[in-house]
Amino acid sequence: MNTIGIVGAGLIGRAWAMVFARSGHPVKLWDGEAKQRDAALPIIGDRLRDLEAAGLIHDPQAILKRVTIVGTMAEAVQGVAHVQECLPEVLDLKRRMFAEMDALAAPDTVLASSTSTMQPSSFSEHVKGRQRCLVAHPVNPPYLIPVVELSGAPWTSQETIQRTRALMEGAGQKPVTLQREANGFVINRLQGALLAEAFRLVEDGIMTPEDVDTCIAHGLGLRWSFMGPFETIDLNAPDGLADYCRRFGAPYHEIIKEQAANVRPWNEALVARLHGERRKVLPADQLAERSNWRDRRLMALAAHKRAVDEKEGI
Ligand code: NAD
Repeated sequence: MNTIGIVGAGLIGRAWAMVFARSGHPVKLWDGEAKQRDAALPIIGDRLRDLEAAGLIHDPQAILKRVTIVGTMAEAVQGVAHVQECLPEVLDLKRRMFAEMDALAAPDTVLASSTSTMQPSSFSEHVKGRQRCLVAHPVNPPYLIPVVELSGAPWTSQETIQRTRALMEGAGQKPVTLQREANGFVINRLQGALLAEAFRLVEDGIMTPEDVDTCIAHGLGLRWSFMGPFETIDLNAPDGLADYCRRFGAPYHEIIKEQAANVRPWNEALVARLHGERRKVLPADQLAERSNWRDRRLMALAAHKRAVDEKEGI
């Protein structure tokens, strides 16, 4: 198994270490802050025990043993097949660190960023080995939510994309590839479209925020945990997708025109109102406990999906 280097041992760096170590890769994990290096293994150990309790892994100790904390960035990026950068979302920092990683790593090591918002061309343009740089954007936490968005700059080689895709698949993730750069990649574009409409529905007095959440949690979201929008509409008309579009294309077009004519920022008063309504349902001192509840539900869902996939041979 190829060794993986991880640069940055915060929330996402630790989570990637779990993903790669869980699938058998030795991992070298580095952070510029000594306290982050010291805290990483105990925190990863705790999370692995949560996964074991949920039936998602069997031997947390063996997985933890594959993760080595290293004292310099050079150690993290040398002798590895793939580097996953997990530093703060600051463009100058990413630019500087990609140039440094490129100078330190062997020429065939792939250099991937976990960035949520930066296009690969923005931090790799002036990197000498820029053909081996790309974005591999996870959804938090990647050890429970497997999709990873791969996005290359115009100069990223196809080999870099393909090797990263293969690595992610081998690690049990679900990579998707952008054919060209797009602001927000794809997942946040999809989420942005939904959020824009959710805010508008509340602002225009069409529905309460609680009921909008119910539409997803007890409606659309049930299917979305195992199929996407195209497969959904393919199955929602007797003769498949084209039949669905024939039947519902015109009414959808009316809705979409209305939405496009009504693009607006999320104004302060609306945000304050939504926040107030959320705090009535969930007081601030219960946010942490509810987040733990969400993670337990995600683990149960991941275990269920895995059992079904195994049964169906997916
Ligand atoms: P974080 O703040 O938890 O971790 C960043 C780590 O980088 C810290 O441990 C810090 O000590 C270290 N660091 C900071 N400056 C450094 C430097 N100059 N040299 C070496 N180490 C340094 O952040 P995070 O949430 O793990 O995010 C990391 C990346 O992952 C970001 O690009 C973010 O956009 C992306 N991401 C985050 C999420 C999320 O939900 N948090 C999801 C997807 C992608």
